[in-house]
Amino acid sequence: MPKLWPWAQGKTETKAEAKVEAEAEKKAESEQKSGRPSMAKPKMALYWAASCGGCEIAVVRLYEKILDVANTFEIVLWPCVMDFKYKDVEALPDKSILITLFNGAIRNSEQEHMARMLREKSQVLVAYGACAHIGGIPGLGNVSNRQDIFERAYRETPSTVNEEGTYPQLSFQVPEGELTLPEFYDTVRALDQVVPVDYYIPGCPPTKHQTEAVVEAVIAAVTEGAELPPAGSVIGASTKTVCDDCPRIREEKSIKAIYRPYQIIPDPEKCLLDQGILCAGPATRGGCEAPCPQVNMPCIGCYGPSPGAMDQGAKLLSAVTSNIDSRDPEEIERILGGIPDSIAAFYMFGLPASLLHRIRLERGAAREAEAAAKGAQ
Ligand code: SF4
Ligand code: SF4
Ligand code: SF4
Repeated sequence: MPKLWPWAQGKTETKAEAKVEAEAEKKAESEQKSGRPSMAKPKMALYWAASCGGCEIAVVRLYEKILDVANTFEIVLWPCVMDFKYKDVEALPDKSILITLFNGAIRNSEQEHMARMLREKSQVLVAYGACAHIGGIPGLGNVSNRQDIFERAYRETPSTVNEEGTYPQLSFQVPEGELTLPEFYDTVRALDQVVPVDYYIPGCPPTKHQTEAVVEAVIAAVTEGAELPPAGSVIGASTKTVCDDCPRIREEKSIKAIYRPYQIIPDPEKCLLDQGILCAGPATRGGCEAPCPQVNMPCIGCYGPSPGAMDQGAKLLSAVTSNIDSRDPEEIERILGGIPDSIAAFYMFGLPASLLHRIRLERGAAREAEAAAKGAQ
């Protein structure tokens, strides 16, 4: 019998640990009675690509439901939590993983490799959270490109000392052998811009009820043969907009100036957009129950475009401009000039999945050409 550490003995056992132990005993008893081992658990993988880690926390926030996940599935990959090796997952037969929850956008070659590999190995691939769904905050990198980002990160930041101008190398020889790094791409992509996706769970991060919904649906499919939602479904979201869930009262033609949330104390009953605070509610898919506007903060669009909207930013721009209380072109220009950062205002989460997809791909090349032209003068 293995030696127990003092904190792991007897009385310190938590309710959760007791439940897991009881389940294990029940399973062992049933196997002993039937004389054969119970069927192997279906496999599950969780992966983070270009991610802040918030989506991982959201999974852990299932609280006691995480025990149902552990009881129902054999987890074969979860780099944030356990030390699995990629090569072990690569060795699995195709489609042998029942479900993969994939969070984060695709920013480099390692993330693309994992997306393609997990697509091959998984029966159900879920884009979990705004970054995997529509590109998310990392997608704002699409206003720049690799060269400019490297220039800024490795040379220009005030805290950087890099006199030799060294940039990360894909391969580097050291006495012990070759060191390699993934390739950093010019452009950030959402998961379905790289591989086909079965389901989407929007949000930054998704809420507990959304994660529960998908986990319960898959557990019911595994244990009771229940049907899964149609492929392509957006889970835990509604078919309306955030405005439909928001209790604030909307008027028409009421924007006289644009404000940032800290610049005014908004009327708690009235629509924030009507009061000049840019709120993405009219262009954003509902289902979150509008928590942000209910605490005086505007919706920033983390659930992605509202159903039927071809482009979230364009729809929001249309909602804003059609609500401006002026017919005078100069005044309209002055009001719109109050928008502090139009890309972040209209595409905070969805630039990679938008019609724009990215801007200024050639900025680095243009900068080089400009420098060359200056050098020739
Ligand atoms: S969706 Fe939000 S919480 Fe999840 S990885 Fe992206 S930024 Fe983080
Ligand atoms: S624009 Fe924002 S504040 Fe106004 S109703 Fe819609 S969600 Fe609510
Ligand atoms: S109100 Fe908007 S930003 Fe807030 S959770 Fe809902 S979709 Fe996301």
